[in-house]
Amino acid sequence: MRKTPFKITAFVLALITALMLFGCVKPDDPDVVVDVGENTPVPVTAAPTGTPAPTDDPTAAPTGTPEPTQNVNPDPSKRKVYLTFDDGPYDYTDRVLDILAQYNIKATFFTVGRFMFRYPDTLKRMAAEGHVIGSHTDSHDFNIIYKSPEAFLEDVAKWREDLKAQVGYDAGAYVLRFPGGTTNSSIGGRSGRGAYVEAVNAAGYYAFDWSIGFNDKWLAGNVNNLPKPEYFWQSYLETYSYYGKTDPLIVLIHDTEEESVNLLARLIEDLLAKGFEFDTCDHIGDNFLM
Ligand SMILES: [Zn+2]
Repeated sequence: MRKTPFKITAFVLALITALMLFGCVKPDDPDVVVDVGENTPVPVTAAPTGTPAPTDDPTAAPTGTPEPTQNVNPDPSKRKVYLTFDDGPYDYTDRVLDILAQYNIKATFFTVGRFMFRYPDTLKRMAAEGHVIGSHTDSHDFNIIYKSPEAFLEDVAKWREDLKAQVGYDAGAYVLRFPGGTTNSSIGGRSGRGAYVEAVNAAGYYAFDWSIGFNDKWLAGNVNNLPKPEYFWQSYLETYSYYGKTDPLIVLIHDTEEESVNLLARLIEDLLAKGFEFDTCDHIGDNFLM
């Protein structure tokens, strides 16, 4: 396997900001949106300035401005974009599937155990319509999965059994997203994630962080109290302006967030207008770590 697509440069340090832009909700209750707060986003109105903060610091401040590297391809029409949906399936996932069908786009869904049981028909539909189902762990409980790499793998194995039980066959591609991303404080940040990434790779999975998105689980970053649609769209534009040249370009959306789903068609139109083609994470063939 080749190395991760980014060298340890100042640019990479700056890229860490991307992970700080998003939190991942713990889906303890689908009706309650919980900010885990493992990452601190850049307020959408603030330019990223200053010194990079430790990635595993939940109170981390915005980091420096990224600079182009040799790993960057500036031409969207020569690159692919990967839509990824976390934490579902949920109430809005069927709408996501409708929109994706309308554009004939395949996406990657990083699902969690309890919602696979709650929305089995949606899960089956994902598989039947050719989308990629990846693991976001069974429990999504940071206290369980980040005890150790072994505990993490155990949870992922349970996810796989749940998926098989619900769909009726092993519909899961070997792609995975760590809850909170690989720089979250519970995994130990960039310095602590190595053993976890190695463990999932040894189990056959590639791990995927993300480049850009709506910031839809980090409402605390909405310092100007914009209406959600405005805040989400501005977050997309800002994260694209910083990280839109990363290759592969991976978009994080939570299909547990209705306003994000409301913006999906607009997002697709924008990415199509930029020249991107859409693909699924199983075709990347490597980890994507920020
Ligand atoms: Zn999540």
